[in-house]
Amino acid sequence: MSIELKDPSLLEPRALIAGEWIAGASQADVINPATGEVVARAADLGVDDMRRAIDAAYAAGPAWSAKTAKERADILMRWHDLMMENQEDLAQILTAEMGKPIVESRGEIAYGASFIRWFAEEARRIYGDIIPAPMADRRMMVLRQPIGVVGSITPWNFPNAMIARKVAPALAAGCTFVGRPAEDTPLSATAMAVLAQRAGVPDGVINIVTGTDAAGLGLELCTNFKVRKLTFTGSTEVGRILMRQCAQNITKLSLELGGNAPFIVFDDADVDAAVDGAIAAKFRNGGQTCVCANRIYAQSGIYDAFVERLAEKVAALQVGPGHDDQTQIGPLINTDGVAKVQRHLDDAVAQGARVLTGGKAHALGGLYFEPTVVADISKGMALLNEETFGPLAPVARFNTEEEAITQANDTEFGLAAYFFSRDLSRMWRVSEALEYGIVGVNSGVVSTAEAPFGGVKASGLGREGSRYGIEDFLEMKYICVTL
Ligand code: ADP
Repeated sequence: MSIELKDPSLLEPRALIAGEWIAGASQADVINPATGEVVARAADLGVDDMRRAIDAAYAAGPAWSAKTAKERADILMRWHDLMMENQEDLAQILTAEMGKPIVESRGEIAYGASFIRWFAEEARRIYGDIIPAPMADRRMMVLRQPIGVVGSITPWNFPNAMIARKVAPALAAGCTFVGRPAEDTPLSATAMAVLAQRAGVPDGVINIVTGTDAAGLGLELCTNFKVRKLTFTGSTEVGRILMRQCAQNITKLSLELGGNAPFIVFDDADVDAAVDGAIAAKFRNGGQTCVCANRIYAQSGIYDAFVERLAEKVAALQVGPGHDDQTQIGPLINTDGVAKVQRHLDDAVAQGARVLTGGKAHALGGLYFEPTVVADISKGMALLNEETFGPLAPVARFNTEEEAITQANDTEFGLAAYFFSRDLSRMWRVSEALEYGIVGVNSGVVSTAEAPFGGVKASGLGREGSRYGIEDFLEMKYICVTL
């Protein structure tokens, strides 16, 4: 099945360097995970191309940062509008290369575009400071200036939004950008770049280097001195490698890494709302997001009712190819993804967990896995410590609030946590006690352009979105004038 687009020119298999579309010396297949079919053959660029892209971004920097904030904001706003005008085509490309349900892809395009709009607005609010001087003849001030060339490495699970969250604040701040999308999902990135060009983003300001040599291209982004900042979303393991590599030039870093989100349901919760929240937090994108609930803790008083209703609703989730409007759970991204879900499940069952629904590869075959609920989870099971990244919801029982908080915090990660309760004091107490960058109270989905997204502990550095999200792309300059 080839993708049918209103504007076929949005399906761009080439990479973008200095405003030119490059087919590359070789190409790599982009596979539709629902069918195994080749969607396109994308440019498979190497380190030399990456170097050229960095040079192009470096050369484009002065003119871009010299534009007024309003000029940059106008271009970004046009880009936002074009993304929304082409929402359906962008969603079709996204689902074809990544597999998520088309309804979720449409949502992701709107979500990605919302960051471009937000940072178009924020571009005009990058204020400096005047500092009262300790001496009568001194005048002291602080300027905020763009950090320079920004390198970006992004994963496949949100092929549009992860780039939007990085490129929008970078451009708003006056930085230029070299993006390396995940090898599985280059086409969403190039489609965004096609629209960026149409919106008037000048040549060299956005460069998209597609390629399969993740380590080589990443090393160049980390160690090329012209790159002054690296922004990454992906695993903690790769984040550590990048951090080490960035040490060479003291390249600034923003890292959005793995999570191991706890989802706690207290006895005083609205159980139906908690079930819906758990499904939203766990099964969005087939469980393949870094803020997905990874482990669910239900208090003894409502445990049985909660797991029963959860299993009932999960059993009713529609599994199928992403391009089908009815689909709620698409295929996993690749065979490694499927193997990890199976490994976590087998390990839990071997240690006494009870499968309530699902529990095996789906009858559709390929990369489909049945949405699964396993109860009676206990300490020592791998799925409590590792991110499953698939449609597997494990539920453990707890007795006291203190016990829930201790277990929730017992991880190296600290990205998102969720809990359901109707007790106002508890809402504050537990929110403050959870060692996480994001806490959802009585809600399973909390991410939006207006709010800071990011983690503590091994989940990363920096925040994306919100008024804080632009800070990572700015340097501070203190100017002291003696009169
Ligand atoms: P995920 O599990 O989401 O794929 P990864 O951290 O493996 O997380 O991948 C996130 C991004 O990092 C992808 O674009 C991937 O190609 C890239 N990547 C993987 N290994 C490296 C590396 N050694 N250096 C730079 N980028 C890498």
